[in-house]
Amino acid sequence: YRGEFQRDRDRIIHSTAFRRLMYKTQVFVNHEGDLYRTRLTHSLEVTQIARTVALALHLNEPLVEAISLAHDLGHTPFGHAGQDALNKCMRDYGGFEHNLQSLRVVDELEAKYADFPGLNLTWETREGILKHCSARNARDLGDLGERFLERRQPGLEAQLVNVADAIAYNNHDVDDGLRAGLLDIQQLRTQPLFGNHYDDVVAAYPDLEDRRLIYEVIRRMIGHVVTDLIVNTAGNIEVAGIETIDDARSRDRPLVVFSDEVYEAHTGLKQFLRHNLYRHEKVRAMNERTRAMVEELFSSYMADTSRMPPWFETQADGNEQRRARVVADYIAGMTDRFAIAEHERLS
Ligand code: MG
Repeated sequence: YRGEFQRDRDRIIHSTAFRRLMYKTQVFVNHEGDLYRTRLTHSLEVTQIARTVALALHLNEPLVEAISLAHDLGHTPFGHAGQDALNKCMRDYGGFEHNLQSLRVVDELEAKYADFPGLNLTWETREGILKHCSARNARDLGDLGERFLERRQPGLEAQLVNVADAIAYNNHDVDDGLRAGLLDIQQLRTQPLFGNHYDDVVAAYPDLEDRRLIYEVIRRMIGHVVTDLIVNTAGNIEVAGIETIDDARSRDRPLVVFSDEVYEAHTGLKQFLRHNLYRHEKVRAMNERTRAMVEELFSSYMADTSRMPPWFETQADGNEQRRARVVADYIAGMTDRFAIAEHERLS
């Protein structure tokens, strides 16, 4: 009853890695509060934004859904702090990239089907999952890695999910940051994307309480950048005379992009969040703790692979490189709370 990309999407939703996204950090560690975004709710927000744009641009909606739902499957526990720590641990063993890990999850690590390892997804979905990749790793990926070496673009659906990802986190992190009391409304007003909509909403609804005011501003921000993305991309496709998927892929720059004006405002907000939220001393203090946990887990399993479940222990049998990769797979698959419990158990 389903097309290929619908099947991809369903296999992703039924995967173990997808369910674990529920307990993985986006910015705030999972136990900090029930209202913050997790990797799962982030992935759902990315999906909905991307579907809207896909429908407006007549792109393939199920493909966009599949890529969006899978885009963060390879993320470690504890967000970027976890990824940095694991990458550092893996320095002598080929490194760790969450994008590449997402591909590894769907290609190899999910073990559910009798006939094949992984989820056996289509080439197009896998192309979209691999958002970026170093030249060294690209060389090992065959046809999937070629575009990174030849500086070509992925299909339009993959380009779209990339932007939808950025739209989702820019906006939900404003919401989460305000909720956590780490961001300040007056400070945010210096950002044109936030400030202009804020002024409009306050002018139209002077008595609105804070929570509704914030939500109303954010929904307008999302509407604003999504509309700009649709209009600008439709124009780009028209001007470039794109007729086939290969036309889109052969270009040296993406076609699914914001106008210059919105790009600048969007990037400004992203930098604002980096300085004021992602590098906030409270977030940093948490990152220090979780980074240490990941490093200690890594050394502990490397020293004795029987500390992992039997399946991983068996897989880790081989040279040091092999052992390190299996340990990294095991740690990357952990949820925040499982990693914390496991760290406690082992220390
Ligand atoms: Mg993401």
